[in-house]
Amino acid sequence: MPQALIFHTDLHLSGYLQYSDYLQYMAEKVLEVIDLQTVFQTNEGATTAVDKISFTLYRGETLGIVGESGSGKSVTSLSIMRLLAMPTATIASGQILFYPKGQAKPIDLLRLSENEMRKYRGSELAMIFQEPMSSLNPVFTCGYQVVEAILLHQNVNKKSAEKQTLELFARVQLPDPHRVFNAYPHQLSGGQKQRVMIAMALSCKPSILIADEPTTALDVTVQKTILELLRKLQHEEEESIIFITHDLGVIAEVADRVLVMYKGRIVEQGSVYDIFKKPQHPYTKGLLACRPPLDYRLKRLPIVSDFMTAIPTKDWFEIEEKPTTIKEITDDVIVTHDEQNARLTDLYIQRPLISVENISTWFPRSNNWIGVSNDYIKAVDNISFEVYPGETLGLVGESGCGKTTLGRSLLRLIEPQQGSVYYQGKDLMKMTPDALKKQRRQMQIIFQDPFSSLNPRSTIGNAIIEPMQVHELYSSEAERIKR
Ligand code: ADP
Ligand code: MG
Repeated sequence: MPQALIFHTDLHLSGYLQYSDYLQYMAEKVLEVIDLQTVFQTNEGATTAVDKISFTLYRGETLGIVGESGSGKSVTSLSIMRLLAMPTATIASGQILFYPKGQAKPIDLLRLSENEMRKYRGSELAMIFQEPMSSLNPVFTCGYQVVEAILLHQNVNKKSAEKQTLELFARVQLPDPHRVFNAYPHQLSGGQKQRVMIAMALSCKPSILIADEPTTALDVTVQKTILELLRKLQHEEEESIIFITHDLGVIAEVADRVLVMYKGRIVEQGSVYDIFKKPQHPYTKGLLACRPPLDYRLKRLPIVSDFMTAIPTKDWFEIEEKPTTIKEITDDVIVTHDEQNARLTDLYIQRPLISVENISTWFPRSNNWIGVSNDYIKAVDNISFEVYPGETLGLVGESGCGKTTLGRSLLRLIEPQQGSVYYQGKDLMKMTPDALKKQRRQMQIIFQDPFSSLNPRSTIGNAIIEPMQVHELYSSEAERIKR
């Protein structure tokens, strides 16, 4: 077993080390980012998404990058991979040094031609994206796409690439690798697609794997299996991983060392122990303090700016620290037992807004010779419940248990087999298409996956104005834009 890996495993066994001890073990550099600055040209002028950041990745370690949405995490990873959309994005300055194994002299990835870079991408550096659907091609089977990736980077024939692909699918614990091989991306669940992406990323045994929020779109049970899988694969392959997330719980679980990003800069870095037990920067303290508690309910969710103020300066931001616990912000933040009971009483003396009665949505598994199915997947099977005006009803359950199908059935985006959905007493199941279209204005859905709901060729403004036009809301275009 390679040295770095032994130490790496020890780190987990001995609890968390302090940063200085840690660096002694992590002696071998694999990537060094120096003064990286990435700038976007937009209609509103230039924005600096990544502002002169420097960090090192050591062989065999998992480096976590945390920070709120928009802090520059994805732009950092795309800069390293050189996958930024030119010419709007430019790397204004910096070096990205890659240290090939057994070679003392690093290669500056930013100085390679696009052709040379392509050799490193996939074979030495691979990336897993947050949104597997936008990285997998919908018109090719999953097997075909991984085979192509292998053929591109390895000098093997098709037969051997196919064999490797099936082995990879088994290694990333996809059920029934042969079925997945012949499946199109849309036929797989989110967690399965993410596994296909991981298989593709691992197909060329990269030294560096960049995982950009690989589990954010997945539910917690699937997330857990993906995290375990990455850890296991790293253990076997001595890979270095950059793991990006906004989720501090995930970071604590997977990372050896953590970078905290804020508005394009690294404001703090250290071992997991240092960051969680002794955060220094007000932003890190704020991030940690605003995790909602599990044992009591707050009147509103705290946000980072409750704990610090960022005052823009000519150069960047001046950061002032505010009180450091939720209770210090105001004393009246916790919902008491009496308040909670009063709220529930108020809710349930009302008439329900929605009554769902015995709804079932079944999908045919196979058709018999006259095209009629007698074998169904009972995705939603005889469910009844009520929702009251002003109520938030939580629906939980593991991946594949029927949550999304139920939600879509209520709006008749999928037609249920049977049952009734009363909205203020009217049965949605009996409505004409026209009446239903009007009714839908009252019932909105936010999808798990924003990429498939937003048209990439439309601006954000147009995307939001369009439904207002469809439903003829507000008196003029100017009103709609203002809205
Ligand atoms: P994170 O991954 O931390 O959520 P990003 O790295 O995606 O954040 O974004 C950092 C900043 O760069 C944001 O302010 C974002 O709006 C901006 N940005 C990202 N992509 C583009 C782009 N293609 N054009 C213009 N600005 C962009
Ligand atoms: Mg991102």
